[in-house]
Amino acid sequence: MAHDLRSGLWSTSPLYQNAVMDLDFAGKTAGMSPNVLERLKTPKKAMCVSVPVRMDDGSVKVFEGYRVQHSTTLGPGKGGIRFHPEVNLSEVSALAMLMTMKCSLVGLPLGGAKGGIRLDPSQLSRAEQQALTRRYTMEIISMIGPEQDVPAPDIGTDGQHMAWMMDTYSMAKGHAVPGVVTGKPIEIGGSLGRPESTGRGVVYVIEHAIDLLKRRGTAQYDLKKMTATVNGFGKVGAVAANELFIRGCKVVAVSDFYGGIYNKAGLNIPDVINYMNKNRTLKGYPNAEAISNEQLFALEVDILVPAAIDGVITKDNMKNIRAKIISEGANGPITSEAQHYLESQGVTIIPDILANAGGVIVSYFEWVQGLQQFFWSEKEVNEKLAEVMARAFNRTAETSDRYKCGMKTAALITSVERLSQAMLLRGLFP
Ligand code: NAD
Repeated sequence: MAHDLRSGLWSTSPLYQNAVMDLDFAGKTAGMSPNVLERLKTPKKAMCVSVPVRMDDGSVKVFEGYRVQHSTTLGPGKGGIRFHPEVNLSEVSALAMLMTMKCSLVGLPLGGAKGGIRLDPSQLSRAEQQALTRRYTMEIISMIGPEQDVPAPDIGTDGQHMAWMMDTYSMAKGHAVPGVVTGKPIEIGGSLGRPESTGRGVVYVIEHAIDLLKRRGTAQYDLKKMTATVNGFGKVGAVAANELFIRGCKVVAVSDFYGGIYNKAGLNIPDVINYMNKNRTLKGYPNAEAISNEQLFALEVDILVPAAIDGVITKDNMKNIRAKIISEGANGPITSEAQHYLESQGVTIIPDILANAGGVIVSYFEWVQGLQQFFWSEKEVNEKLAEVMARAFNRTAETSDRYKCGMKTAALITSVERLSQAMLLRGLFP
């Protein structure tokens, strides 16, 4: 009897299991090489570290941290650092795999990686977070570097965390190494437009999807007459909501970890952002009704942007979804089963590896600008971002026509086609 020699170490999380299921489905749809698929199902390298931190009260707490490189076939690993209580090795490995697919899909010379620490950052003071970030950076220092693996912000981290990582790495090397991270503040080599890039990209692809549906004769939409909801009001969700608002789309509900707010007439998103910045939560926002995240998903709207965490649309709530276009701001927000069901109901799903690729595209621009010591205006960054996203969207739409499959499967096929050429050309070592 054949014996599977894998221990199951990577595959304990639903996100990983979904990623492998999606890969198998794409492989079957396009008749891909089983050897290539086999290699892509497990990460190249992973590091698990203990991160001890002296807390403000003098006690020592030890946190679990991870860095995973899924593939470096196309270039250095690239992927965010997540601070979240649910982080584990399998989830980080799945997210690293999504990064490989994303970078390949949008044509970047980068591989896929991800990192994280299992904690609730809201329970740590600024000083504790700084100590945690610096110690974590030292623990994973042999894995990261501008030519090796370049972290960026993700859930629970931002430019300040990247600045601490860059400083710690630079101290160890004896000179400033801004290229070790992206998503840095402008003052230390960040790129204009990077903080907004993911949310902007999420909306660029909604505009492309509307054009595509018109061209295919499937539906006639006009963003100015459409309604939208956004789940997750952080770095991605708040910007996506604002970009929709700017374009005249009526954003009727948004939510965060604690629940959502709803106004049938449309929310004033800049005002909601001001409220969020002051109060750190949407709770108590005056010009709207309080709703739950589940109520938000069930609202009858044209566009839904899940921009919080993975696995929020599953077999349990997929039948409640009434949006016609879903742009996946978060990584893995829809399980495979829910995706197939929603697509069978005519819902257009713009997959995460395409919809939220704006962040890694501008991270790549930041890396390039840093290497050249030549910085671009925000207009140049946005124009180049729009160009790369349009190209990736069109390639995905062509694949979807060629294989008569949904955009999610098409994006994976397009990505693996490029990656597999590179894998076959480089060959297997030794
Ligand atoms: P963030 O920490 O800035 O914001 C996350 C938001 O989601 C917050 O509003 C939080 O309250 C909310 N949230 C968390 N758990 C929730 C839950 N269970 N239900 C509802 N809301 C919840 O993080 P972010 O950077 O905006 O990342 C959001 C998603 O986008 C993640 O999946 C991340 O991997 C993905 N992503 C981020 C970037 C980026 O550039 N930041 C790039 C690509 C993908």
